[in-house]
Amino acid sequence: MKISKIGFVVILLLCIVSFSFAQDYFPNIPQYKTLICDFHTHTVFSDGSVWPTVRVDEALREGLDAVALSDHIEYQPHKNDLPTNHNRPFEIAEQGAREKNILLIKAAEITRDTPPGHYNALYLDDIDLLDTPEFLEVIENANQQKAFVFWNHHAWKGEERGRWRDVQTTMYDNKWLHGMEVANGGSYYPKAHQWCLDKNLTMLGNSDIHAPSLDYQYTAQKHRTLTLVFAAERTVESIKEALFAEHTAVWHKNRLIGRTEYLKPLFDRCVTVSKPHYVNGNNIAFFEIANNAMIDLELKRTGKSGPAAITLPARSTIITQVKLSDDRKAVKLSYTVSNFLIAPKKGLPVEFDVSDMPEK
Ligand code: ZN
Repeated sequence: MKISKIGFVVILLLCIVSFSFAQDYFPNIPQYKTLICDFHTHTVFSDGSVWPTVRVDEALREGLDAVALSDHIEYQPHKNDLPTNHNRPFEIAEQGAREKNILLIKAAEITRDTPPGHYNALYLDDIDLLDTPEFLEVIENANQQKAFVFWNHHAWKGEERGRWRDVQTTMYDNKWLHGMEVANGGSYYPKAHQWCLDKNLTMLGNSDIHAPSLDYQYTAQKHRTLTLVFAAERTVESIKEALFAEHTAVWHKNRLIGRTEYLKPLFDRCVTVSKPHYVNGNNIAFFEIANNAMIDLELKRTGKSGPAAITLPARSTIITQVKLSDDRKAVKLSYTVSNFLIAPKKGLPVEFDVSDMPEK
């Protein structure tokens, strides 16, 4: 068959379009889209080593939905070459982000010694207004701009690192502090995880990337540390609503960290269990478990039936088996997903029904 010139162009365009769609690393959950976001990145406008547009190109290449350029306000090591201009990274990247359908969030990192430490403010209008000495004034101003403010890598650097001090209490009591990084780059912070649960703060995981991002072919074990946002729509505004409502999970190494109310429906959408089949008329039920997500799921048995441990590799299907009673009554298998953390060191409990089905 000969393909016409127009046909060829159409096919070529379809190829280009299909390459530029975001990757489905994780499925959507009922009522919400699962958006993959990095809310902590740097450019040459502070101590990063890439131009702002490159962060957008990387986000596209890696299948992210949203990215925030969060350059340090108070730390500008390149200012002799590139004069301080806090609003420029966003302005420079904005047009390309629109073209590539990457949701770009205007942000900055408020950068102080510990305490108080480092904070990202997302959804700022004018970053210049935050370039003043008094820390709490800066935080208050960010809140006047209706920013979403979170505490970055709380356990990093300084004698007082990892401690909740009066300054955080002041921020928290004024509702000026909305979230914490539970993971930043390679680090996971169980204490921040617990504080988020106890104090109703939003959990975030971010790359804090400074260098160019070179690993764009993600695997379950190798990807940026990122935040999953469960948002009503794929828009900048909808992400903001979801952040304030704590609709997030943290994707850190081969695990997800988040609240049961989001990890449970996510797990249910990630995993499909087939109806059982039987061999030679005995009561061993063979069944398939499919995992469509970019995470190797680690299951440990908590009930009496089924294999003691099951690993469901990312985006694949395994066959396993369970012995049923002689009348082949339906059986419930109870497991803990040990790498879906609903609290520090606590996995998500799940159950499967292996139902009684006649042989084909
Ligand atoms: Zn940073």
